[in-house]
Amino acid sequence: MPPLFLSKCLVYYDIIEFFVNLCYSFRIMSEMCYKCFKPKSACLCSYTKEIDPGIKFVLLMHQKEAKRQRTGTGHIAKISLKDSEILVGFEFEHNKRLQELLADPQYFPVMMYPGEDAWTAKKEGFGEALAGKKLLVLILDSTWFCARKLIEHNPFLLKLPRLSFYGDYRSIFTFKHEPRPEYISTIESCYYLIKEMQENGLCDPAINPEPMMDAFKQMIKFQLQAENERILGIRPNSHSYDAKYNKIREIPTF
Ligand SMILES: [Zn+2]
Repeated sequence: MPPLFLSKCLVYYDIIEFFVNLCYSFRIMSEMCYKCFKPKSACLCSYTKEIDPGIKFVLLMHQKEAKRQRTGTGHIAKISLKDSEILVGFEFEHNKRLQELLADPQYFPVMMYPGEDAWTAKKEGFGEALAGKKLLVLILDSTWFCARKLIEHNPFLLKLPRLSFYGDYRSIFTFKHEPRPEYISTIESCYYLIKEMQENGLCDPAINPEPMMDAFKQMIKFQLQAENERILGIRPNSHSYDAKYNKIREIPTF
């Protein structure tokens, strides 16, 4: 086959592929709920309930994660937590909003990240150290791999005081395979942190964080149902990694 003919074919193929992807993106966008960032058929907004634990949560979302919202929990956390926001990016050292927040004297900023010197809610003198300031918790809202990249690219984040859990938690998000068993989703991190702060008198015990977990459980059910429908051919494959899921799973009753 003449090379010129072959290269023309490849160009046409690229153009067609581009338009197919564009149409697919428009279709996905039109079917999406822009509050919880889930498909309208699996919208979680009605399952969420806003709570105010008196902590500001700032979710640092890797820009790649922002495009992959199928299994993300950052937006559900944002809807559930009164004083929370999501900052999307990769380079955060010069992120205007983040720097504004870190410089704001009303906040006591901490980075949610494990480490030998990380504080936990049990840390003696934690309440006194806050000195009336509002705790501002930065959480990496990404897969384990992207979170590691964010830290590598933004080492200043680890210069902030670190906060971690004293409890040992496992995610109920069992169909999402993370390389480390202790890696829990963003919404679970917020939930367990609120619980630990409550146990140590650092957060109002009257606040009920359970609706966060309820919304998360519903997300898992919707997700498993969608995976099962793909396997049964009721729903078309939409991602290349769908092929990895080829076994019908039981939908939990929680
Ligand atoms: Zn929604």
